[in-house]
Amino acid sequence: MTRRHRSVACNNCSVSLSPVGDYAVVFPPAGSGSWKWKTGRKLEGGGSAERKETDRDKGESLTLACSRSNPGDLPFNLRKMRVFSLENVINEFEVLSKDAGRQQTETLRWILEQNGEAEYLQSLGLAGRTDPESFKACVLDTSPVLTGKPITSISLSSGTTQGKPKFVPFNDELLQSTMQIYCTSFAFRNREYPIGNGKALQFIYSSKRVTTKGGLTARTATSNVFQSEQFKHTMKDIQSQCCSPDEVIFGPDFQQSLYCHLLCGLIFSDEVQTISSTFAHSIVHAFGTFEHVWEELCADIREGVLSSRITVPSIRAAVSKLLRPNPSLADSIHNVCVRLSNWYGVIPELWPNAKYVYGIMTGSMEPYLKKLRHYAGSLPLMSADYGSSEGWIGANVNPSLPPELATFAVLPNIGYFEFIPLEKSEVQDLEKSASTIHYIEAEPIGLTEVEVGKEPVSIQVGRHREGSRLPSTPEIQFVCRRSLVLSINIDKNTEKDLQLAVEAAALLAEEKVEVVDFTSHADTSTEPGHYVIYWELSCDATEEVLRACCNCLDLSFVDAGYVGSRKVGAIGPLELRVVRRGTFQTILHHYLGLGAAVSQFKTPRFVGLSNSTVLQILCRNVTGCTFSTAYGP
Ligand code: AMP
Repeated sequence: MTRRHRSVACNNCSVSLSPVGDYAVVFPPAGSGSWKWKTGRKLEGGGSAERKETDRDKGESLTLACSRSNPGDLPFNLRKMRVFSLENVINEFEVLSKDAGRQQTETLRWILEQNGEAEYLQSLGLAGRTDPESFKACVLDTSPVLTGKPITSISLSSGTTQGKPKFVPFNDELLQSTMQIYCTSFAFRNREYPIGNGKALQFIYSSKRVTTKGGLTARTATSNVFQSEQFKHTMKDIQSQCCSPDEVIFGPDFQQSLYCHLLCGLIFSDEVQTISSTFAHSIVHAFGTFEHVWEELCADIREGVLSSRITVPSIRAAVSKLLRPNPSLADSIHNVCVRLSNWYGVIPELWPNAKYVYGIMTGSMEPYLKKLRHYAGSLPLMSADYGSSEGWIGANVNPSLPPELATFAVLPNIGYFEFIPLEKSEVQDLEKSASTIHYIEAEPIGLTEVEVGKEPVSIQVGRHREGSRLPSTPEIQFVCRRSLVLSINIDKNTEKDLQLAVEAAALLAEEKVEVVDFTSHADTSTEPGHYVIYWELSCDATEEVLRACCNCLDLSFVDAGYVGSRKVGAIGPLELRVVRRGTFQTILHHYLGLGAAVSQFKTPRFVGLSNSTVLQILCRNVTGCTFSTAYGP
């Protein structure tokens, strides 16, 4: 079927971008009266903090200087955000979100005006019209993107969704909307969990920089953001300055950068207010590494001399400047580490002033939550916003919800959004989760046309709860990446289905055996084809446990096509293959070698034949396998 992807246009850089490629569920907008205001909490913000009474309750807010440099070019509401005050940011958000329809029309008008001179738009016959109807009538295809304003650089998407990175234009507007969403979600977070002046232990990394044929710099979207002055100013405004110097963030060797992030975090341990990364995987990975290098880190701090493992001169020079012999800090870290039981609660123990752990924890990050909770102990986990290299989509304005329930309020002035309603296909017999239902796409609809309570929508799916139209901006819940589907014949299982199956089966593994990471492959080299699930485990599991897990996996795929095919033997028994420890690290390194960045890395949950290198890495690391007997021997 040809899909009418006019846009998910997200900033001035485009009116015709490729779809983001995710399924989402739509929720009613947050009731603005439901915010819990904390009273009587002490602010540690120093001179720039002030207490205020609000209309609703006694609340608190911080007033900080804004970093926005050139507001002249910004659309409507962004202009008003020059003075950064938490209360203003929240009020601004509430005004915007209540009037989402008008905001969308204005945003589209603004995008079309800014780009009116672009050859691409000229050729579509819009003739200066900037209303949604003309836009829908004239802009219908997936032609290359051209913009009215200069593209400052190119963002490379992670490439973990479709196998290879997409090249997406990046410009100042995208940078501004990134800062807007950072500030918005921070304002909501800070209302629940105020942080003091201090630093953030951020596990963030830049990708390699390449130059396109046209002479533009291309790197991941997060690298484009980290490299900007605005990012630094905004991080300062929201009291989240990174502990590590730039040389660490932009270092050419990820392992060395990771070691130094940990070291800098420990050097500034008293000041650290938050622990964060773009995607939660990086935090779990960092503490997995910490378990192995903590003694070396202690030695560096004790002696004031950086480990010889750091060989990149720029990183050595920058980190050495921060390092002084500090035996008492080294002793206290050492004492914490030897006292901990299996590293439970290491984060609050080593960073006693940290208020929460922050990063994207939804979607393909959910499988890492268990480990993250283990490291975070008593600290709350807060899921970060929803976006893509193409542009931001929504802010998490209910930060106290557990990550599994996180929703994202679509910011109606940072892009023009369309949703593709998905309708159930006729053949549905078994009970299914949202993600296992097969959908037929309807015509795209606008942001305020999505309905709560009816069957599916999307950027890509939404399911609504109450059947009412939404005048305000909707909140959506991320379901899964739509293009990732495990399929042999008529069966179809999404990454969410795989995740649920793995979660169910992992429960059968003994207490001490954890599924560190997983992926899958549809093996059609056998007759009939069958699903192969790869597991990396924290330690060895018995044959018996693996057999039980394998059967459970097989039975957990409840998609009608799969169950039917398994029953009649059109799909063979599911195979569970256990891979050596470190296999998924090797896969990560493979992607880094291709120019990906750790900051945007998402483990591919399906590995097709075209992804032969990853498939080879998996195959050569298999240490054992077992076949399901769930549908008979
Ligand atoms: P990239 O391909 O590097 O541009 O990454 C964008 C993709 O990351 C999105 O299409 C989503 O699949 C995923 N993503 C981004 N933010 C979130 C989030 N908050 N929850 C789940 N997935 C996300």
